[in-house]
Amino acid sequence: MSDRQTLLYLDGVSVSFDGFKAINNLSLIVGHRELQAIIGPNGAGKTTMMDIITGKTRPDEGEVFFEGAIDLTRLDETAIAELGIGRKFQKPTVFESHTVWDNLALALKKPRGVFSTWFYHPSQEDVARLDEILDIIRLRPRRDALAANLSHGQKQWLEIGMLLAQDPKLLLVDEPVAGMTDAETVETAKLLKEIARTRSVVVVEHDMSFVRDLAARVTVLAEGSVLAQGSLDHVSADPRVIESYLGR
Ligand code: ADP
Repeated sequence: MSDRQTLLYLDGVSVSFDGFKAINNLSLIVGHRELQAIIGPNGAGKTTMMDIITGKTRPDEGEVFFEGAIDLTRLDETAIAELGIGRKFQKPTVFESHTVWDNLALALKKPRGVFSTWFYHPSQEDVARLDEILDIIRLRPRRDALAANLSHGQKQWLEIGMLLAQDPKLLLVDEPVAGMTDAETVETAKLLKEIARTRSVVVVEHDMSFVRDLAARVTVLAEGSVLAQGSLDHVSADPRVIESYLGR
């Protein structure tokens, strides 16, 4: 992938915890507007990799380049988020006692000088963007519903919408379909594909039928390194991948 197509580049990243190498000389590229799925057995280093990208964990070795020259390993979590990297953890965290719309409005990036989210009224432009986000996350009909009254899957979508309100360049999503119904799972693959038309999305996931629906480039992590990369069919036929799953 050429520099022009590369959004994120992990270059030889390693990190150890108490002498155990959780990430071992890991190199990985995420392209602009790429949808990439990260799979791998438990303990492969998927969460640690996300922690390194978002600045939660500092690697012992290697660099993480964003948009060419910015080395994320020198920045803290807040600075990395401000550059345009949003992360969705597995459990949905929404403001239960607020409506869908208010959750999205509260998540908007505010203009400089506006300190309190509660007194900020979205501009017309913001309202148009939030309407667009409501369509993407399938919640326009539930716009005025309290978040508490949404299904688990809808809460996951709302949180994805709240991240979109921040207009990230890269969205990191951790096991979005865990606990979802089959119909919600299918819809989630569709909506992530829609999001990846305008920004990059990296999804860590265990549910293989969902990964198949995503039709994304798949990276298999094992023991802190990339074991295989390609389509799901390609990686799942790789004997080393089969061994890494079965060997545990
Ligand atoms: P995955 O998300 O693929 O299941 P993790 O990134 O959570 O894998 O973990 C990779 C390895 O690093 C595991 O063996 C885990 O026990 C270890 N590990 C992760 N975080 C820590 C930590 N803070 N302290 C010690 N060991 C850790």
